[in-house]
Amino acid sequence: MNLILLGPPGAGKGTQAKRLEDRYGLKQISTGDMLRAEVKSGSEIGLQAKAIMERGDLVPDAIIIAMLSARVSQPDVTKGFILEGFPRTGAQAEALDLVLADKKMPLHHVIELQVDDAAMVERISGRYTCAKCGEGWHDSFKQPKVAGVCDSCGGTEFTRRADDKAETVAARLEAYHKQTAPLLPYYAGRGVLRVVDGMAEMNEVSSQIEAILGKSGG
Ligand code: AMP
Repeated sequence: MNLILLGPPGAGKGTQAKRLEDRYGLKQISTGDMLRAEVKSGSEIGLQAKAIMERGDLVPDAIIIAMLSARVSQPDVTKGFILEGFPRTGAQAEALDLVLADKKMPLHHVIELQVDDAAMVERISGRYTCAKCGEGWHDSFKQPKVAGVCDSCGGTEFTRRADDKAETVAARLEAYHKQTAPLLPYYAGRGVLRVVDGMAEMNEVSSQIEAILGKSGG
């Protein structure tokens, strides 16, 4: 089963994608995570993307499309994938259609996490991640039981994304509304769009998604 999770930054795409990986054995593909790894490694792509990401703008389609095409050609995605943070523009959606048609991979569902923009700034600017195991935490909404110690792995070092500052979040939301939201009618027209309430509690959002996908994810 192949899915896309759509929604503005902070909607919970990453959290829900990880849960779907565990529940259905699908592979999460996050272009944001891939870009952050490129930036960290200091690669050519990373050097090109770093400043753009820190401004909250979108990285050029050509870079993203090449990166994504290579990723879906790898053998670990044959059981199915969850695209998260991609596509973000019309050109990316069209390129994805071509890649999937070429590989004879159907697109089963596009799930929109519908949220209020106003709540996203607080959600994003408070989030941080355990540097050791990657578990996500939040200053107000999801604190570890013991302050400064990750419940999942006992790690004591945490990181915050460079683009999770309140100033950058506004630019990221604007990029979403201008460039990504037009994909919603595109997928609705193809009959694959499903909408869930991204303002609901995390487990409730997961239940709504599971109700769409069914027990086996078919
Ligand atoms: P994300 O982790 O999905 O919020 O992505 C973080 C940043 O990476 C975005 O604000 C963009 O600068 C860049 N990015 C990630 N995915 C894409 C994409 N599909 N197209 C363009 N830029 C992207």
